[in-house]
Amino acid sequence: MGDRWHVEVDRSVCIGSAQCVHHAPDGFRLDSARQSHPVEPDTDASEPVLAAAESCPVEAIVITLLNGGEPVFPPED
Ligand code: SF4
Repeated sequence: MGDRWHVEVDRSVCIGSAQCVHHAPDGFRLDSARQSHPVEPDTDASEPVLAAAESCPVEAIVITLLNGGEPVFPPED
């Protein structure tokens, strides 16, 4: 069975650049204040969502494992 992820956007950091929506149109939406939200905060592991997190210029997207909370992105040093 694949991993389940918990996805959060730190809205104090998000600058509304929309790279996440570009990489994962099903994964993120911008609200009227151009702040990104995960469409489903708890989701199956997803390459587009990971690509979105990697593409965010301010690392506003944080992904952890739903069970246990280990970091997926940004990875632990
Ligand atoms: S890529 Fe990052 S800064 Fe840009 S809208 Fe998405 S979360 Fe916000």
